[in-house]
Amino acid sequence: MMIAIPFDNSYARLPERFYAAVNPTAVAAPRLIKLNEALARQLGLDPDWLKGPDGVVMLAGNSLIEGALPIATAYAGHQFGGFSPQLGDGRAILLGEVVDRDGRRRDIQLKGAGPTPFSRRGDGRAALGPVLREYVLSEAMAALGVPTTRALAAVLTGETVRRETLLPGAILTRIAASHIRIGTFQFFAARRDVEALRLLADHVIARHYPQVADGNAPYLALLEAVVAAQADLVARWMLIGFIHGVMNTDNMSIAGETIDYGPCAFMDSYDPATVFSSIDEHGRYAYGNQPPIALWNLTRLAEALLPLLAEDQENAVAVAQEAVNRFNELFQASLIAGFRQKLGLFTEAPDDVLLIKALLETMQRGHADFTLTFRRLSNDAVGNGQSCRELFTNPAEFDDWHGRWQQRLQQESLSAEERQRAMHSINPLFIPRNHRVEAVIEAATERGDLAPFEELLAVLAKPYDEQPGREEYARPPAVHERVLATFCGT
Ligand code: AMP
Ligand code: MG
Repeated sequence: MMIAIPFDNSYARLPERFYAAVNPTAVAAPRLIKLNEALARQLGLDPDWLKGPDGVVMLAGNSLIEGALPIATAYAGHQFGGFSPQLGDGRAILLGEVVDRDGRRRDIQLKGAGPTPFSRRGDGRAALGPVLREYVLSEAMAALGVPTTRALAAVLTGETVRRETLLPGAILTRIAASHIRIGTFQFFAARRDVEALRLLADHVIARHYPQVADGNAPYLALLEAVVAAQADLVARWMLIGFIHGVMNTDNMSIAGETIDYGPCAFMDSYDPATVFSSIDEHGRYAYGNQPPIALWNLTRLAEALLPLLAEDQENAVAVAQEAVNRFNELFQASLIAGFRQKLGLFTEAPDDVLLIKALLETMQRGHADFTLTFRRLSNDAVGNGQSCRELFTNPAEFDDWHGRWQQRLQQESLSAEERQRAMHSINPLFIPRNHRVEAVIEAATERGDLAPFEELLAVLAKPYDEQPGREEYARPPAVHERVLATFCGT
């Protein structure tokens, strides 16, 4: 028999208390609605096989193929600040790992594949809407160059799931560098299982941070590496207006990828207090709160790692503190470097931070669209700011700022055309606007129409390119189109 997928399951080789072995539950009538063929090829998988009958039943969890070793992983986590010692994959089942064409190990996981020992009161299933949201958002993030889990496939199950109403059921095939979370370390720390902590840390070092293995304090170096990865990741979110929405410690990947696309959304007009998630009543995970929350989460990781960091606790706390304290500096450096580029500044001047801050404050007061402001500044790199100006309800204030920016640009050596090209390549024209995502979900869920989903995916695959005929997709929502709340869909 041909080996369809060359699985090599390193996580399943860890001790049994790391996971529960569990098979997906078969569904009534699997139908493939989307396969990411380019990603399949990158993973070394045959898209034609995946689209064929054997592939589709695998993607639905109806049959296990040779080499798969399905498990639900155990983890804990702080959810909205409160600790749950026992969470785990309640509706996601890891089929196994493959090594992709670039030699990177990747998880293949079915999300919505049926109950597991960690399901608690949940049904183990996913509705079509959240599956499409995750597909669109995660693929958009990948096209924007942000580290993220990926979407390999979506299938309809032919069954309904009960949420507030009955909804079509679906399964997403998620690809990740790994599904190890801050909460995975917390799971063992809460049980004072130092042996498991060490095994997990060794696994993570070998898999994600091999460069730290040889030093004299590898576990501290691991913490430092995760702090650096998360600082960079959250800076990238901030630079494109992405709001994760549920930055619980069980939703933060140790590998530094964006993971767990629940109520996430992109901000339209700039306001650091922006929140979409319907369950985030106090704005804990608002756009502007994401950096301090990432730091808070990393502090929880540091606490979990304490038994590995030094013999005596006082020492361990001191070195952990120091590692975590690096976050702000690293985050600020990535953020400012990113904003400089967004403004076409390729040299550094002492007042750049003030210039960036002044723009953001002007945008906030003027309700300017975050994405379009930077895109139109790129267009205006050679012009007078007119097209950008109309995004602001406080145009005079914008004019002042624009004058300062023009002056600053005179210190740059790039030609205006070169600057414009550089700015266009990092300031997207197209983001997954929330009203567009909701329209895609509605068409699919209410009318079985997947054409809007396909079209949106196509637009977002090239976020930096002008796409004649698709200008509508760049437009912010009109007042009556605004979607104010998003839902986890669990
Ligand atoms: P999330 O909000 O998706 O990060 O999920 C938080 C926790 O709830 C995780 O342990 C999930 O596995 C679990 N969970 C979410 N939805 C379901 C569901 N429909 N059935 C079972 N468990 C779920
Ligand atoms: Mg989660």
